[in-house]
Order: sequence, then C-alpha cells, then structure tokens
Amino acid sequence: MALRIKGIFILLLFQCVEIFCWKAVPSVSNPTTHGKRKPPTGRHPLLLVSFDGFRWDYLDHFHLPTFAKLQQQWAHVEKLQPAFISKTFPNHNSIMTGLYVESHGIVANSMYDDEHNTYFTPGRHNGTGWWDDAEPLWLSNQLSGGVSGSAMWPGTGVHVRGAEIACGMRYNRSVPFEDRVRHCVACITDKKANFVTLYWEEPDRSGHHYGPRNSTVMQKVLSKVDDHLAFLLSYLSDKELLGHINVIVTSDHGMADVEQVIQLDSCLDPQMYIFVNNNPIAGVWPRHDLQKVFNLLTECSKYLKVYKKAEIPSEYHYKDHRLIPPILLVAEQGWGIVRNATLNKSPRFSSLRRKLLLVLRTRP
Ligand SMILES: [Zn+2]
Repeated sequence: MALRIKGIFILLLFQCVEIFCWKAVPSVSNPTTHGKRKPPTGRHPLLLVSFDGFRWDYLDHFHLPTFAKLQQQWAHVEKLQPAFISKTFPNHNSIMTGLYVESHGIVANSMYDDEHNTYFTPGRHNGTGWWDDAEPLWLSNQLSGGVSGSAMWPGTGVHVRGAEIACGMRYNRSVPFEDRVRHCVACITDKKANFVTLYWEEPDRSGHHYGPRNSTVMQKVLSKVDDHLAFLLSYLSDKELLGHINVIVTSDHGMADVEQVIQLDSCLDPQMYIFVNNNPIAGVWPRHDLQKVFNLLTECSKYLKVYKKAEIPSEYHYKDHRLIPPILLVAEQGWGIVRNATLNKSPRFSSLRRKLLLVLRTRP
C-alpha cells in the first residue's frame, strides 16, 4: 500500500514544487499530528480545473491562443501519464485522492458489484458507498479546518464517508461553463473556500464523437475550450483574484482513434458473461464457467489481450480490489471492444490514450 500511494504523491508534490504552491495545498500525505489534523497553513486558495479528455498534443496541432499564451507565461508540463485505466471517473478520483485506481476503488466509469448485484454508472451511484474507500482531498481539507468547493468534479456531488462538500454543485451537464466558474469564484469569495475544483466535459465529449483527428470539428470544439479558459482568467481578474490564488489546469486522460471494434458476442454466447465498461479496456464477469469464458476470449482476436484478474500486469496497479472484474480485456490502440455493434451504436468510436496535459499557474 505504501508504495502505491508514494508513486502518486510524488506527482502531486512535483506539481506543487514546480509552482511553489505547497503552502496553498492542503497536506494529505501526513494529515495527522498525534491524532489531530493539521490546519491549512496557506492563505492562497487553490483552483483545480479539469478539461476532460484534453489530449496532450492538442496544443501542437490546433490554434489555441489562450493556452499558447499560458504555455509561455505559466509553468507547463508537456504530458503526464494517467492512472490505469485511462477513464474519466477513475482518473479524476486518482487526482483527488493521490491513489492508484485499485486503492481508491472507482475502478471504471461503469462498475458491477457482484456481492450486492448492483451497478455503478456515472449518473446512478448516489449514497451507495462506492466512493468511501479513499479520503478525497476535498474531505481532507475540510477535516483540517478548510473549506472545499466544487463545480461538478466527479465524486464531489456525493457523500463520502458521511461527509458532504461545503460548497458543492449538483451535477447537471447542461449548466454552462460560465455558471460553473461563477459558482467556484463565489465559493472562494463568499464561502472562503481554500480548495475548489472545476470540471468541464469538453473536449472529451466531442473527441469521442468525432475523433481527435477530425481537425475541422475539433478546432471548433477546442476553440470553445480556449474561450472558456479565457473567460475563467478574465473573471478571476474582474474579481481581483488573479495573482492571489493558485490555478492548476489539467486533464484526466488523452484520446485516440478507434478504427475497428472487437465484438465479444461474436466470440461467446451473450448469456455466458456480464459486460462492464467498453473500449478500449473492458471487464467481463463470467456467469458460470470462468475458464471456458477465458478460453473463448483468448481466441477472439489477436488485437485483444485477455487477463485473468490475478495475472493483470503489476505495473497497471489494477488488481487488488474486489470491483475489478475476474477477466480484464485490453485492446491494442486503434481497436475498441463492444458487446456487439448493434447494442453499441456510437457513430464513430474513439478511445482513450494514456497521455494528458498539465498547465500550472501560481501567484506572481
Ligand atoms: Zn475523461
């Protein structure tokens, strides 16, 4: 356990050392002193912003003037490696907890709990304890006497270990970016929040639909994201916060084209298994005969790696949790995994790649 935690904390510490913002970040690596939480020591709030699915090299291939300006002016890391699996909920919770996925327990965007025969989906998981395995930063901050806020960061709209975020915003994808920014700023100015997170669904949504290499469409989508970042900076300036708070702009994972799909129903009887999650990494829960399902899957496609849970490569840090399925499927880049193409009607498949962007900013 200690090794797994250490790996991610080095990453977070690196972010902070780079921008000299350590005092503004609540301490979670050693949150207790003789049983008591250390109070927050910084006077400068931290705003953590995630643009979902922002591939690391979008900056090189698209005209993004605000991002380009910040690349020059802010600290900037070329790319980062997301946690495995490279999906939205697991990675946002890794950022929020400092833990690998197997340690915080949000092991996929969609999960199956075989003990209770229940499912987790992004829109249906309130109050079921799915998030209780690890203490998120927002809760550590509050337990240390700070005030946390969020606009729709995954996992901040639910109770965790019985606690609720102080300045939250219930998830509603139709709420405009500008309203989310206003909410976050109000958390800082009115509620005196010292740690606030902001989540936006693009460019992930469009990247999945159109593909990251669709330059015409993605330029429009990314220009809008660039406009959003410009609005954020302008609004912080209007509120006289710019220069007085720390801002980190990051993402959860990248994006890659999927040109062909592997259809599992063509390889084994649909009644033999429960399918959880989809491309390019999928989970299979055999209904009865694990070995038979495993054997059929290994013969399904040469572009598919099939692992029994105990044999998942240790470098994934994706093995030691009861919600990780008995069989894990990992497709080669360029390939997706679906149950069958009739059920999965996404017009164009895109998948996630293990890269992401990070831009850092601190007070001058
Ligand atoms: Zn995502």
